[in-house]
Amino acid sequence: MKDKRLFTPGPTEVPKEVLKAISGKVMHHRKKEFSGIFENVIKNSAKVFRSQGEIFLFSSSGTGAMEASVVNFTSPGDKALVIISGKFGQRWAQLCSAFDVETEIIDCTWGEAVDPGKVRECLQSNPDIKAVFATLLETSTAVVHPIKELAEAVRDTNALLIVDAVSGLACEELETDQWGVDIVAAASHKALMNPPGLGLLCVGDKARQVYEKNTRKCYYWDLKKASASLKNLQTPYTPAVNMVYGLDKAIEMLLKEGMENVWQRHRDLATIAREGLKDMGLELFALSPSNGLTAVKVPEGKDCKKILTSLEEDARMVFAGGQSHLKGKIIRVAHMGWCFEKDIRRALDALKKELDKQ
Ligand SMILES: *Cc1c(COP(=O)(O)O)cnc(C)c1O
Repeated sequence: MKDKRLFTPGPTEVPKEVLKAISGKVMHHRKKEFSGIFENVIKNSAKVFRSQGEIFLFSSSGTGAMEASVVNFTSPGDKALVIISGKFGQRWAQLCSAFDVETEIIDCTWGEAVDPGKVRECLQSNPDIKAVFATLLETSTAVVHPIKELAEAVRDTNALLIVDAVSGLACEELETDQWGVDIVAAASHKALMNPPGLGLLCVGDKARQVYEKNTRKCYYWDLKKASASLKNLQTPYTPAVNMVYGLDKAIEMLLKEGMENVWQRHRDLATIAREGLKDMGLELFALSPSNGLTAVKVPEGKDCKKILTSLEEDARMVFAGGQSHLKGKIIRVAHMGWCFEKDIRRALDALKKELDKQ
């Protein structure tokens, strides 16, 4: 049976070089050989985040890195601003609620990006806000948010800007330090071209002072402990050793291509996807469409589930439908990570054939 090609926004396709690296012999995580690889991953990841901050690796999915952000940078009773424009913004709000953080919510219509002016206003009327939780690429709607402008709005306040870039890192432009983003959460299985299994967190100086003084109790996600281990090129608990080999390889590939070129490749892929889908008579869902993922509305009278099932079984390609109230209403075509022009053209051809058939 032919393998299925993933056009889903996580997990994504993994290059064979990365799979090969992952299949290497398991090393002991407290030995020098592993520390060498770990050091390399940390040093090179910083170049992908475009930050001189601390980089933490967790053996977790992306949500683990999000939870680490909430527990280390807030205390019970603190107030935070959460920008919701889809399922992943909602996740920030759910995490805040799970950890007793009071929230002010900016609720965007799904498909739209946040207006930075609203964030500025909210921070002015709530000077006690300690953190602003935002999303770079809201994967449920394929919207990219204006993180640079959000950082400008947050910069002169006491609040930290915490960005979920789980799907956005390495497919959307992100200048963590230059823009003044305090904390960025990411994961291995989106544009970082790895299987699921690693969560990453990039923490700047202003944020570091906050977690160092934070009194909330936590254990697995404790950055004070992780930071002490990091100085010895280790993690407090056993890391997903082989996944670290994979990340090392993938990041080496990204840096060899050059981050500017990686961003440009995704811009080009997004242009091909948007133009191609519009040529089929389809309407884009996102008003501020991302470069890693394109969502289109399912035309009236077509059966989304049937389209996705046929594509999977006949064309051997996996696409994502919509989540929550968008189920059955949109199709999401991911072009993040290990994706090139020939891949996206093949995806568009298959989708066109399927739509014509229905
Ligand atoms: C995939 C994703 C996550 C994390 O999901 P996990 O299943 O925990 O890896 C978080 N935020 C965004 C925007 C995502 O796309």
